[in-house]
Amino acid sequence: MSKEFVDVLVIGAGPSGCVSSSYLKKNNVNVKVVEKTKFPRLVVGESLIPRVMDHFDEAGLFPALDKMGFEKKLGARFLRGDEVCIFDFSNKFGEGWDWTWQVPRADFDNTLAQEVINKGIDLEFETEVIDIKFDGTDSITTVKNKDGETKEIHAKFVIDSSGYGRVLPRLLDLEKPSKLSPHSAIFSHVNDINREPGEEGTLISFDIIETEVWLWVIPFSNGNTSIGIVGPTDYIDQLSENGDPAEALRKAISLSDYYVKRFGDVEFLFEPRHLKDYSCSVKSLFGDGFALTGNASEFLDPVFSSGMAFATESGMLAAKLALRQLNGETIDWQKEYTDYILYGVDVFTTYVKEWYTGNLQELFFHQPENPDVKKKICAVLAGYVWNKDNPFVKKHDTVIKNLANLIKLEKQEQQNQQ
Ligand code: FAD
Repeated sequence: MSKEFVDVLVIGAGPSGCVSSSYLKKNNVNVKVVEKTKFPRLVVGESLIPRVMDHFDEAGLFPALDKMGFEKKLGARFLRGDEVCIFDFSNKFGEGWDWTWQVPRADFDNTLAQEVINKGIDLEFETEVIDIKFDGTDSITTVKNKDGETKEIHAKFVIDSSGYGRVLPRLLDLEKPSKLSPHSAIFSHVNDINREPGEEGTLISFDIIETEVWLWVIPFSNGNTSIGIVGPTDYIDQLSENGDPAEALRKAISLSDYYVKRFGDVEFLFEPRHLKDYSCSVKSLFGDGFALTGNASEFLDPVFSSGMAFATESGMLAAKLALRQLNGETIDWQKEYTDYILYGVDVFTTYVKEWYTGNLQELFFHQPENPDVKKKICAVLAGYVWNKDNPFVKKHDTVIKNLANLIKLEKQEQQNQQ
């Protein structure tokens, strides 16, 4: 079997792997990326949040992405019947980017991967990791290409950015069930022929069908729009009698008073994908000679579009720590990697849970709006979940519940007075 020798092997050329490998290459590390599929390939996760821009910028990937003319995302709109709540990222607490993109991931990820190649990084497509053996921090990874040929890649460090492939969690028995209750989604793209002109047509929106069930509408600059339904697994399963995802998504669209006219009769551009029980977790984010990043580690829920932000945050941090380790420093991976990443995961976990209890929805739709509360929540939705100056970050485990209870009491008093 042929052998290759690198300093760092990155598994997967999604956003997480591209950020890691670009940062390492910029710092003169001998890095190689292996990617199982041939790009462009379809993947879910089309609504970004501003925090990702910091990472694409630092990794030197921003200019290539910016040239592509992806639809700019300046905020997000939440709908519940006649109620509307709009977050504007330029009106948030603290520092940070006030815009990002909403993107067809096939094109977006392909742009990233091509830019990684342009930077001189050795990226091998259609090359799948099938085995790995560690000896201390050194490892030998076996990969197989599309012709079935295998080879060994010897590395001093491995960054597993294999997303839903979850290569090391599977091979090293690191899988752990998520703390979140089982939710599923069905999504597809449509040619958005009924799109209204102006902002209405391009605004990213989340339409609440029931407290735990919501529809996403993510318009792209290429004229197509992504539509997805999310809810408890039992609910999503019963949307179609015979488990047909197209019928289920069609039914879901019919439940949206706001969008049924625009999307009720348009064709799906591909057979809708059913993503069942998507939340996942791991026993550890690192081990001797490796770190897990992005969806190869933890995935919560799509409701606040945090997936890509964690993918790039963890990809960037793992790369920085790996570089320091290669330069001879001793790294406390628990403190510098796991504790840091899990702090942000914990903040978003609270927001996801409080979304599905309905408490966060109470805050979003409360009238009159409280501009100070809105700004602070907006900073969280923009992905700035490590800014402890923001009480909606620091006290995330109590502040939403307490405010929602106050709103409920106020409503109760108003009802009693009537
Ligand atoms: P990926 O983008 O999955 O890339 C991993 C790569 O690794 C893939 O290209 C894969 O082919 C490759 N790979 C896998 N196995 C192997 C192997 N054995 N060898 C070599 N390569 C391999 N996130 C958002 O930010 N916004 C959203 O709106 C959003 N919506 C979502 C909706 C749903 C229903 C779900 C389930 C998730 C959503 N996400 C969203 C999450 C988002 O999909 C992920 O967080 C994001 O794609 C993670 O990026 P990544 O680089 O970690 O992994």
